[in-house]
Amino acid sequence: MSDSSSFDCVVLGGGPAGSTAAALIAEAGFSTLLVEREKMPRFHVGESLMPETYWTLKRLGVLERLRQSAFPKKYSVQFVNEDGDASRPFYFHKHDPRECSQTWQVWRSEFDQILFENAAQKGADCRDRTRVLEVLFEEGAGGEPVSAERQRARGVRIQDAAGHTRKIAARVVIDATGQQSLIATRLGIRREDPHLRKSSIWTYYRGAKRDPGIDAGATIILHTKNKDSWFWVIPLPDDVTSVGVVGDVDYLWKGRGGSQPGRGEPSEVFAEELALCPALIQRLNGAQRTDSFRVAREFSYKATVPAGDGWVLVGDAYGFIDPIYSSGVYFALQSAAMAADCVVAGLRTGDTSGGQLAGWVPGFEAGATLIRQLVDAYYTNHFSFGRFIKAHPQHAAGLTDLLIGRIFHDRAGDIFDDMAPMLAEARRAPSAE
Ligand SMILES: Cc1cc2nc3c(=O)[nH]c(=O)nc-3n(C[C@H](O)[C@H](O)[C@H](O)COP(=O)(O)OP(=O)(O)OC[C@H]3O[C@@H](n4cnc5c(N)ncnc54)[C@H](O)[C@@H]3O)c2cc1C
Repeated sequence: MSDSSSFDCVVLGGGPAGSTAAALIAEAGFSTLLVEREKMPRFHVGESLMPETYWTLKRLGVLERLRQSAFPKKYSVQFVNEDGDASRPFYFHKHDPRECSQTWQVWRSEFDQILFENAAQKGADCRDRTRVLEVLFEEGAGGEPVSAERQRARGVRIQDAAGHTRKIAARVVIDATGQQSLIATRLGIRREDPHLRKSSIWTYYRGAKRDPGIDAGATIILHTKNKDSWFWVIPLPDDVTSVGVVGDVDYLWKGRGGSQPGRGEPSEVFAEELALCPALIQRLNGAQRTDSFRVAREFSYKATVPAGDGWVLVGDAYGFIDPIYSSGVYFALQSAAMAADCVVAGLRTGDTSGGQLAGWVPGFEAGATLIRQLVDAYYTNHFSFGRFIKAHPQHAAGLTDLLIGRIFHDRAGDIFDDMAPMLAEARRAPSAE
């Protein structure tokens, strides 16, 4: 690290959100420190990209590195219902035959490393194995309670790889610490989504069946019988496939036998769910598991306040919906790029108020809320996207737009005008209660 203990901006967390923000702010000429607690490259879940990541990746200048990589190309997503019937793949390029309609399935360790290195190339001081111990806020006058957005961030206290701690002053602190949500947790503004109390168990296989041609790189989403859970299948380099199951926390863990009654072993719960998904069993026939079972719990939440004086939250540190549509990395890149523009404008004019740093949020939320609606639809029993498109074929393009992530335009939500009555009817269906 340079001797300077004062930066225009300190970015906490070297995932996609943090590296994006750091690259753009450093590129604009402001001194930027990016700190990541792990040694890079580090493991992370979340391997399937949404096509609309293209534009931020282009802006960052990393598309060529992705084109040169061994990451499988993703042209489509396909859904398999609880009876094992597969939808036709939603081909992104059929709807819009441009390069941006193709994306990648990535090893996150490698993908995140590309973005981390890119931030350094753009001039950010990037430090891994450096943990943020706390965000330093200004003392409130006279000990009066101060609302979250009025708490002014002044910098951070960090611990480097050698164990030395030091204080760093910053005009703006960007929290990109992912599910850690350092600032939101500290200020008590993080709220779990009570409707999406989900958990996930995932692992990796070598030699799982792949479809031929451009379908080899598709993400496949499969419902289990009774629709109590769903699996993702994400093809990765070297014939490795990421396979994970997602279900309600209570459904996945409560009352499961395992070696400790009521606290199922991840491997056993995974096997029990797999037994309910014959279409996936077929794909895994003959495949070898190459990793342990990994678990994530209760990952859907949002901060009630996105920014305050001298600080702003981006990526998962701001909020996370659900992995069903692979929107996490896209939202991380998009929110970080939008927030970075507000930070740069604020640093230029000397306005680093919460109002200035939150300027990107309404635009972002207008799009993000559509993915949230699409998630709700997927989890609505008795609702079927297949039936919806049959009844309203004019919305097929609009649905593909949402799956691509093309959500930041005025007409993006039109599809929900006709979907809402079908969803309401599905929710009224007797066995859904
Ligand atoms: C089960 C599951 C499946 C998913 N599947 C997908 C998918 O297929 N596609 C997709 O796009 N998204 C997926 N996601 C979401 C995706 O993983 C995240 O949305 C994405 O990683 C968010 O990026 P980020 O930069 O905000 O946070 P992260 O990638 O989590 O980066 C945060 C970084 O901050 C660091 N950090 C934390 N605390 C500190 C600290 N105190 N000091 C310094 N550094 C710190 C962490 O080490 C980490 O490197 C999935 C999520 C889950 C839970």
